[in-house]
Amino acid sequence: MFEDIPVDVSPMYEGERIRAANMFVELAGPKSRGAELVQVEEKVEDGKVEIMGPELDAMQEGDIHPLGILVEIQGEHLEKELEGVIERRTHELCNYIKGFMHLNQRDAIWCRVSKEALEAGFKLEHLAKTLAILFKEEFPLIESIAVTIMTEPATVEEFVSKANEEYQTRDARARELSDEDVDVFYGCVMCQSFAPTHVCVVTPDRTALCGAINWFDCRAAAKMDPEGPIFEVEKGDLIDNIKGEYTNVNAVVNEKSQGTVERVFLHSVFEYPHTSCGCFEAVAFYIPELDGIGIVDRDFNGETPLGIPFSAMAGQCSGGKQVEGFTGLSLEYMRSPKFLQADGAFERIVWLPKEIKDAVEDYIPEDIRDKIPTEEDGTTLKEIRSFLEEKGHPILERIKTSQAEVPEEELIVEEEALEEGGEIEMEDVPMAPVAYAPELTVPSSGGVKIIFKNAKVYAEKVIIKKK
Ligand code: SF4
Ligand code: ZN
Repeated sequence: MFEDIPVDVSPMYEGERIRAANMFVELAGPKSRGAELVQVEEKVEDGKVEIMGPELDAMQEGDIHPLGILVEIQGEHLEKELEGVIERRTHELCNYIKGFMHLNQRDAIWCRVSKEALEAGFKLEHLAKTLAILFKEEFPLIESIAVTIMTEPATVEEFVSKANEEYQTRDARARELSDEDVDVFYGCVMCQSFAPTHVCVVTPDRTALCGAINWFDCRAAAKMDPEGPIFEVEKGDLIDNIKGEYTNVNAVVNEKSQGTVERVFLHSVFEYPHTSCGCFEAVAFYIPELDGIGIVDRDFNGETPLGIPFSAMAGQCSGGKQVEGFTGLSLEYMRSPKFLQADGAFERIVWLPKEIKDAVEDYIPEDIRDKIPTEEDGTTLKEIRSFLEEKGHPILERIKTSQAEVPEEELIVEEEALEEGGEIEMEDVPMAPVAYAPELTVPSSGGVKIIFKNAKVYAEKVIIKKK
């Protein structure tokens, strides 16, 4: 089937990484532009492959070029609703090619071609041909397929704008429905190939964290291929409306995560947040010192208020782990009326990159919009705090009341006096990945008094052991 392709094509190459030293060229990615788009058309010339712009052999080693991947498909039973889900498979299928690496989705794609692939004679034309074969194999509903690869800057630019319009139409449609309007949600395990315990729960109010799949897309996919990676999840009984917890969602996630994840809160970063694979558009992270939540997306290059960049944070919370205080999310979810509603929604957001703020501006309640700092207002905790104080961000009230709410008796856990400067150990404080630094004082009356400075106690029970 792949006789014409000069490099191997197999799912076994899916995890292949092409590092800078081994890279011939980079296509799209953070330093350039790019997009991928699948379109269902009435008529498609089957097998047609077109390259618009320079081929690989016209590029120089180390170059970065823009990239557009347009896949046009036709089939009697192909619905437009399937476009999103078929498009999402571009990532996986491109990675079957030895020497070609594809990351992310939509207009965030980032690809690399290895030196070995180029030496073997691999061209973009082969990428297009391989995709045409693989898509047809994966989706028998596709009768004809044509693939266009673009590398010419102006052509890609125009293509990215068109693709963005398409993405927006898809996203807007899903905004009309709410979680309450439906009886079934959907699960997706497409990312289990590299995040084995990750299960996405896609609901009308929570599009998938990769930002590429919404509830309608899933419905179409599950109907087309009930045995596939996207499946129906009956909600079951509502356990908590605000947190977004349902009996059967828990049961299905537990089963599909091989027993690793027992509960999921769809709309919170605390206790049982949604797991994160690695393709999230952004991460929401708890900042204990401010008792607030920050958001950072993969396009943001600087340091976050936690003192680490996006990449390091993604490393801590991806791979299918459920890490309290962190959750991967799509930018579209930030437009949802249920966006982190259990945590206080935008009133709890204390920092986010300017670019995201602009993208979701209309969905941030007006009275808080100017009170949320971006990197332009500061990235250190000190800078952020003074901005929040200057603008009167509601988080300040929260910090005050939450400190006042912690009754002192609960904090006196040992009768024995602890010497000044003595150490105590804390257990069961489920904020493990975040620096948690209470200030300790030892009252003369004995007992250990712990002052949680600028932090709220999230544990229901804090066990203090004397060392
Ligand atoms: Fe599916 Fe979630 Fe992966 Fe998107 S991020 S492909 S919805 S498992
Ligand atoms: Zn993923």
